[in-house]
Amino acid sequence: MKSYADSFLELIYPEKNTCFICEDYDQSIEDKYICTHCENLLKKIEPPTCKKCSKPIDYNSSKEYCQECCDEERHFVKSKSPYAYDGLIKKAIFSYKYYNKPYFYKLFGNLLVKYMIDTDYKCFDYIAAVPLHSSKMRKRGYNQSELIARYISKKLSIPYIDALKRTKKTTKQSGQSKIERRKNLKYAFVIKKNVEKIINSTVLLVDDIYTTGSTVEECSKVLMNYGTSKVYVITIAR
Ligand SMILES: [Zn+2]
Ligand SMILES: [Zn+2]
Repeated sequence: MKSYADSFLELIYPEKNTCFICEDYDQSIEDKYICTHCENLLKKIEPPTCKKCSKPIDYNSSKEYCQECCDEERHFVKSKSPYAYDGLIKKAIFSYKYYNKPYFYKLFGNLLVKYMIDTDYKCFDYIAAVPLHSSKMRKRGYNQSELIARYISKKLSIPYIDALKRTKKTTKQSGQSKIERRKNLKYAFVIKKNVEKIINSTVLLVDDIYTTGSTVEECSKVLMNYGTSKVYVITIAR
């Protein structure tokens, strides 16, 4: 049976074969939710990239990791993102979060599933999402990362686990320095009750954007301290 949320999302959902981005109608769109023209405009992250966080690195560099990953602690094994946070994808993520377009999770979810299959990034025991604080959840009505995580969970048959809770209301991070972000996020997440099954398992953590990595690092730390054996990360863009 469909949940109330699913039926509600379908009501406000654009007509079949309509590109979510440019709103053009094309019969080949189907369940990609994006036309070929718009998809070709999305800027893919090309190698060489940092082995840890997928940041593009200099061709001439002999290093395997970017400077940030050399300098800072990372509790996750690896973080991957198919797209550069720029242009069309940046606009689309913005609309998804701030212009009440919850159904965009289908577009992003589908792009991520394709990417996970293509890059063989799909051997995980559980899939979790970076949580929103309850006040933000009330305001927005949905957690953008959770909707994507649940979509991937269904498509790749990886069980979704609601493992994390955001206990601290964090201020908007976009204008903050790395040090401020980290301070702001300290003790912001806790493990929920009754999720013991993730102990000794491999968890894929989903977030929308990777900026400095502070958010996914803080969540990974909490998961690892709880007893998870490995945490991997995926975001739409970075
Ligand atoms: Zn389009
Ligand atoms: Zn890196």
